[in-house]
Amino acid sequence: MVRRRIEPLLNVFAAVVATLCVLLVRPACAAEALETHLTVTGRSTIFELTMSEGVTAQVFTLANPYRVVIDLPDLAFRLDPAAGQKGAGLVSAFRYGLFAAHKSRIVIDTRGPVKIHSANMLRLKGSSAVKLAIQLMPTDSASFGAGTGAGTREAAFEPDADNEPPGNAEEEHKTHARPVVVIDPGHGGIDPGAIGANSVNEKTIVLAIALQLRDVLQKTGLYDVKMTRSQDVFVSLDNRLKFSRKNGADLFISLHADSIEEKVASNVRGATIYTLSSKASDRQAQIMAEKENASDLLAGIENIDEGSDDQVKSILIDLMKRETSNFSADFSQVLVKRLGKSIAMSRVPRRSAAFKVLKQTDAPSVLVELGYISNRADEEQMLTSEWQSKVASAIAGAVQIYFNKRTAARP
Ligand SMILES: [Zn+2]
Repeated sequence: MVRRRIEPLLNVFAAVVATLCVLLVRPACAAEALETHLTVTGRSTIFELTMSEGVTAQVFTLANPYRVVIDLPDLAFRLDPAAGQKGAGLVSAFRYGLFAAHKSRIVIDTRGPVKIHSANMLRLKGSSAVKLAIQLMPTDSASFGAGTGAGTREAAFEPDADNEPPGNAEEEHKTHARPVVVIDPGHGGIDPGAIGANSVNEKTIVLAIALQLRDVLQKTGLYDVKMTRSQDVFVSLDNRLKFSRKNGADLFISLHADSIEEKVASNVRGATIYTLSSKASDRQAQIMAEKENASDLLAGIENIDEGSDDQVKSILIDLMKRETSNFSADFSQVLVKRLGKSIAMSRVPRRSAAFKVLKQTDAPSVLVELGYISNRADEEQMLTSEWQSKVASAIAGAVQIYFNKRTAARP
């Protein structure tokens, strides 16, 4: 009863304070927490917090009981009083408040061990407000203890990278406001890749398509697009991986075109999407991986062997355990559908093998073989800008579907 009478006064007070903040002492005034939202998508649960302005947040997990903690600067909480009482998905409840001087905290209770799959802060269109989105995935208690256990800081990030001086490379992952898409045109420079029926090089075709894809993606304004090469230059497989990691790729797309012996070339057509696996899905995938992995050797780079086959396998198995491989599979599925509407796909359009360039620990990645340049008709078609833009639009469409799925629906 009393509260109800006080509320209008509080609102007036808040408005006065807010005005003073804007006019006088803005930096000293707290950002406001305006709204929270829980979204369940597949196995993951996304916690979202809308705030009046960008802040720095730190997110980590705790055990006994399992919790996710978000540390924020002094926030004025203007949330629905019922916020946090009802959970959803992996979240049973959450609470919030001032934790220490100039430090606010949100504690999310989870139904079991979880890992912080991603933490992003996006500026809302046409406003200074931002949305913090934290995607949680279930994990088992053993991996929780090993990886994201008690006290481990999972993510710290600045809300608006554009206004910040460039951070150091190590921290760059998960610090970006827009998803980073790395486009990787295969081969280049000294390494021509496959050579087509009309002597056109794979490196030329894939670069042309990559440049178109970059333009289409950049036009959406939704992604930060990076290219491992944007001209006819050799880049080692290792440096492609390093580039991806340094830029904090959220998605890595390697573009290639295939060639096979002339006697079978005339009746083999279509595109194939490859993802990483320790064991090739079939003989063709095996041969393809060997061919693509030989790029460095072709360029005269010493093969720094990762060790015995067994060691390579265990590295791969380690990578495969991570969530990354699920997202690679998700993207490959979307891409097959989307690309299939525009161009011919091979008989088995989704395959997997141990491609070096796909050995990424953080970025979901695929390698696209766009078609066979050993087939004269296909090669001619692939050289037309019409075909190239059709492919670029199809891949860009798949990228959008993929990221739409991964981020919660926006109001
Ligand atoms: Zn290739």
